[in-house]
Amino acid sequence: MASESRATHPPSGNLIVIGGGFGGIAAALRARALGYDVTLLDRLEQLGGRGRVVEHDGFRFDAGPTVITAPFLLEELFTLFGETLSHHVTLLPVFPFYRVRFIDGHSFDLSGDPAAMRAEVARFSSADRAGYEKMLRHSAELYRVGYERYGATPFHEFATMLKAFPALLRLGGHRSVYGIVRRYLRDESLRRVFTLQPLLVGGHPFHTSGVYALIQHLERAHGVWFAKGGTGALVAALGALMERQGITIRLQADVGRLLHENGRITGVALATGETLPASRVIANADAPAIYADLLPGMKRRRWTDRRLDRLDYSMGLFVFYFGTDRRYENTAHHTILLGERYRALLDEIFGRPDHVPEDLSLYLHRPTATDPGMAPPGQDAFYVLAPVPNLRSGIDWAAAAPRLRDRLVSMLETRELPGLSQAIVTESWMTPETFRRDYRSRHGAGFSVSPRLTQSAWFRFHNRSEEVAGLYLVGAGTHPGAGLPGVLTSAKVVEALLRDERG
Ligand SMILES: Cc1cc2nc3c(=O)[nH]c(=O)nc-3n(C[C@H](O)[C@H](O)[C@H](O)COP(=O)(O)OP(=O)(O)OC[C@H]3O[C@@H](n4cnc5c(N)ncnc54)[C@H](O)[C@@H]3O)c2cc1C
Repeated sequence: MASESRATHPPSGNLIVIGGGFGGIAAALRARALGYDVTLLDRLEQLGGRGRVVEHDGFRFDAGPTVITAPFLLEELFTLFGETLSHHVTLLPVFPFYRVRFIDGHSFDLSGDPAAMRAEVARFSSADRAGYEKMLRHSAELYRVGYERYGATPFHEFATMLKAFPALLRLGGHRSVYGIVRRYLRDESLRRVFTLQPLLVGGHPFHTSGVYALIQHLERAHGVWFAKGGTGALVAALGALMERQGITIRLQADVGRLLHENGRITGVALATGETLPASRVIANADAPAIYADLLPGMKRRRWTDRRLDRLDYSMGLFVFYFGTDRRYENTAHHTILLGERYRALLDEIFGRPDHVPEDLSLYLHRPTATDPGMAPPGQDAFYVLAPVPNLRSGIDWAAAAPRLRDRLVSMLETRELPGLSQAIVTESWMTPETFRRDYRSRHGAGFSVSPRLTQSAWFRFHNRSEEVAGLYLVGAGTHPGAGLPGVLTSAKVVEALLRDERG
C-alpha cells in the first residue's frame, strides 16, 4: 500500500536532515520530492522538535506550537506527492483567534470576523475605527511584499537585500511593529492587542521589524486553526507521509559533528561515533549551535564565535502543563493575560535580569475548548506560557521553577481559573534549561535569534551555508524566521537553493 502511493523521482544523491522540527520535516519532504535519498536524524525520541507531545494521566499536551496559521504551507507538503492534508488531519477553526485579557478584567476578542472586529475596536475606542481600517490595509500590503514576494526568496546574497530594501522601507520595515501600529491607533490597550504577535516568534514588539505586522493579515486571510488531536496529530501525519515516501527516520540519533573535506560536506558523525556519508546536509538544529558546536576546529569566515556571542537571542520560556478535574467553559482556546506593565516588562524580560520579573504577561492554552479529546471526559488540558529571560541572565531554574509554578497557579486562580489550586490533577513544566538540554537551543532561547531588523533577511542565518559547500540551514534561526509559517517557508527556500544548485 505504502509503495503504491510513493512518487517516482529521478535519483539526486543522498541527503541527511539533522533535526525533525517542522522545518526539518518540510525540508526532508521537499528534498525527497526533488529525488534525493533522504535520511532524517533527531536526537529526541519523538519527531516534531518543539512540536513534540507530552502525555500524562490521560491528558495530551502539545509542548509548543498550538496556533496553526497559513495551513496552505502544510497542504503544499501533501500536494508534492499528490496527496491531500484533510485525508490525514482535520483542521478545526478556532474562535476567537485569541482573547486578550487586561489586568482590570476587560477583554478583547480577536477574530477573523470583520464585523465582530470592528465592533470590538469601537467598544475600546470609537476614535480608532478609521485608523484600524488603515492599519489592516497596511498589513495586507506588508503581507504581499514581505511574505508573498520575499518570504520564500533566498537571502544569502546582499544584492537581494538591496533589491528588497526600497519596498520594505516604504512599508516601514525599518520601524518596529509597535512603531507601525502606533501610527494608526491612539488607544494604548488597542496598541497592545495589535502588537503582541511578534512575541509568538520570539520578538520584542518594540524592536521587531515592522514587516512582522503582516501577521494581522495572514491570520485574517487564512484563519487560525487547531489540528484535531493537537499539533502532535499534524506531526504524526507528516511522519507517516515521510515514511510512505521512503524517507528513513532515525530517532535518538544525536549528531555530534559535521564531516567535510576540502570545504565540502561529506556526511555527519553521531555522538556514538557512527558516521553517515551524505553529499548534502540540511541542518534543522538551532542555527547558532550548528556553527558553534557541529564544526569543531573549523576556522569560520562569517559565523565566528565572537559574532555568535554578539547576536541578540530571543527570550526564554517557562511552560507549565496541567490538567484539571473540571472544565472551565468560560475560558477561550487561546487567552493572553496581560500584566500591568507592557514596554517596561518586555524590556526587563529581553534585558538580562538575574531574576524572573515580578509581574508577568501569560499565554494560556486550553485545547479542550476546541477538542475535548485532549483530556479525559469532563476535564480540561492546559498550558500556561510565561516569557522569561533566557539563560544569559544566569537564573538558577532548579530553584526558580517551583516558585514560578506557584505564582502562575495563584495568578491564574485570581484572574481566569477559579479554584485552580484544588483542581490540578496532573502537571509538568519546561524551563529555558530544558530548551538548552533537549533542543540544544543556544542560551535556552525559545525561538533562536530574535527577529530584529538587523537579524532579518540577509542579516539572519543564510539558508545556504557560506562556511561549507553542500550544507543548508532550515528552521527558526534562518530566513525568514521562527513560528510554523516561518520555518515551513524556510524549507521552501532550501528547496529553491537545491534546485538552483542543480541548475
Ligand atoms: C512553547 C512554544 C509555543 C509556540 N507556539 C507557537 C504557535 O502557537 N504557533 C507557531 O506558529 N509557532 C509557535 N512556536 C514557535 C514554533 O514552535 C517554532 O518556531 C518551530 O516549531 C521551530 O521549528 P524548527 O524547524 O526551527 O525546529 P525545532 O522545533 O527547534 O526542532 C529542531 C530539532 O532538531 C533537533 N536537534 C538539535 N540538535 C541536534 C543534533 N545535534 N542532532 C540531532 N538532532 C538535533 C532537536 O532535538 C529538535 O527536535 C512556539 C514555540 C514554543 C517553544
